[in-house]
Amino acid sequence: MTSASILSPAKIATASSVTTFSKVLMPKTVNKNMKLKNDFIDKILRIRNESLNNPVFTLERYNQTIELINNAKLKSSARRNDQEISLLKTYDVLNLSNQDKLVKKIQGSEDTSIKYYVPINEVYDVIRIAHFNIGHRGIKYTLKEIKKKCANITEKQVKLFISECNECNIKRAKPKNSSKLVVRPIISNDFHSRGQVDLIDMQSSPDGKFKFILNYQDHFTKFCILRPLKSKTAAEVAYNLLDIFTTFGAPAILQSDNGRE
Ligand SMILES: [Zn+2]
Repeated sequence: MTSASILSPAKIATASSVTTFSKVLMPKTVNKNMKLKNDFIDKILRIRNESLNNPVFTLERYNQTIELINNAKLKSSARRNDQEISLLKTYDVLNLSNQDKLVKKIQGSEDTSIKYYVPINEVYDVIRIAHFNIGHRGIKYTLKEIKKKCANITEKQVKLFISECNECNIKRAKPKNSSKLVVRPIISNDFHSRGQVDLIDMQSSPDGKFKFILNYQDHFTKFCILRPLKSKTAAEVAYNLLDIFTTFGAPAILQSDNGRE
């Protein structure tokens, strides 16, 4: 394989790498997490941008890049070709416990912490661990957490992961349901804009003939008027309300509970 092929978008875009991954990663007994992970890999292969800044490293591309960097580093700078010079500006290889890791080249002025390139088969786990560690916070915070250590995880990938995160979907569903139960307070702006009427049942301790108390309250001022009732018939309630309205004025809205009273 020629070294130039690694940077060709056409090469990266071929479907062959997708099938290779499916074969490598799909065990005979597919457990649920494995399926989630493989579906995720398929999706990020589909949404990657096919430019030279393509952030998706298939294992093939990852290993080829490491090889190219290692070879270029062995040459004296005068003997490096244009591609090698360009690659060395972007990438570096760290050998950690006998394993080569592709990292971002540290430039003089910027942040000097090591940023790893994550090969595609590890993207799912890297996002999952970061997202879980920060307590399922949103895209922005998850991406910020990942970017402390990783060079090539994109917002689109994080967005995709969170949109399929079980815990987050449960959390997202909850407020929608409970918001229907939230009682919105009634706001009155003026005296007489809303009057509330209710009956208090005093049948267990009547005062002579009077067995109920009619309670009328102006919602804005909380001004309250009480009337004794002998019964809770519509006629008697209406008579007393009319008496109140003709004395103090009638409300724009008369509110009562939906009881039979
Ligand atoms: Zn989550």
